[in-house]
Amino acid sequence: MNIEKLIRKNVLKLKPYSSARDDFKHQAEVYLDANENPFGNGLNRYPDPYQKNLKNALAGIKGILPEQMLIGNGSDEVLDLIYRAFCEPDEDNVIIVPPTYGMYKVLAEVNNVEVKEVLLNDDFSLNTKKIISRADKKTKLVLLASPNNPTGNIFKKDSIRELLKELNCLIVIDEAYIDFSEEDSWLKDMEKYPQLIVTQTLSKAWGLAGIRLGICFASPRIIEILNKIKPPYNVNQLSQEFAIKSLKSQIVYNENLKIILEEKEKLKLGFENLSFVRKIYPSDANFWLIKVDDAAKIYKGLLNQGIVVRDRSKEPLCENCLRITTGTPEENKKLLKALKLMDRN
Ligand SMILES: *Cc1c(COP(=O)(O)O)cnc(C)c1O
Repeated sequence: MNIEKLIRKNVLKLKPYSSARDDFKHQAEVYLDANENPFGNGLNRYPDPYQKNLKNALAGIKGILPEQMLIGNGSDEVLDLIYRAFCEPDEDNVIIVPPTYGMYKVLAEVNNVEVKEVLLNDDFSLNTKKIISRADKKTKLVLLASPNNPTGNIFKKDSIRELLKELNCLIVIDEAYIDFSEEDSWLKDMEKYPQLIVTQTLSKAWGLAGIRLGICFASPRIIEILNKIKPPYNVNQLSQEFAIKSLKSQIVYNENLKIILEEKEKLKLGFENLSFVRKIYPSDANFWLIKVDDAAKIYKGLLNQGIVVRDRSKEPLCENCLRITTGTPEENKKLLKALKLMDRN
């Protein structure tokens, strides 16, 4: 497995933008190097381009070294950087496994990279044989969300191990929902697999979708490459500060997580009592995918009662499926009440 061969030639060659803060990293009394406004308001200085304090805070929680992390303006930016670092437009391809997170395909199209789609099996497990057979010399990435969105299931470790063993490309495991799962993160296996990239986010379990903060974990070499091409000040000062503050509130995080998981189980019990619910798919995330008799009808009925869920019926293998996020205890009660009302009519 030679990572160097996977990197785009222009990226290997390019000399990154060198910011004022790159050239001078120490403490000084007077900063006249970055054309900033000198009048302090707390935000007049450019933020740390490498988010050192934030990475140190994350290192403590995740058990990963700061040099194995890249932070982005949401996972969406992180994923875009991965495409741009490794996929030659109009030449290389990536493999995705629908039904899955919609951004993988959008990013491929934006970057003019061919997408090979290998459907999940009927039980939403990975079709590893097919993935391996579809991969070719131009395949640079396999993108897996695990737990997956919109299906909610986590992929078997053995299936992913098989891909890591058989394929000569990078395997990106998007762990946006891993905090809701009892399964281990792939972060534990980072040292073993140099071709492994794990992404996580503060948008879900950490409750910080508004600050846009995604994290890429990979070997120091991959991080070095991604750092070369990222916009220098991609994570703003407010987000960095708010994230550091929030990461210190482990108690709040744990409490909220516990409530969400309890509430998720209550939703399941509620769904089980509805005659129009045909199937509740197993979920390792904070949402349920349920199959109903008529998804459009239920969707509209809920909307009429002021509740919006996601109709995923148009996704492959998801006919008449709704994706429902766990809300607050009050919101979940409202949802179940609204669904019951439709059951009677
Ligand atoms: C919600 C979600 C994300 C989060 O993206 P951000 O840009 O970090 O908010 C990433 N991947 C999947 C599969 C998701 O469902």
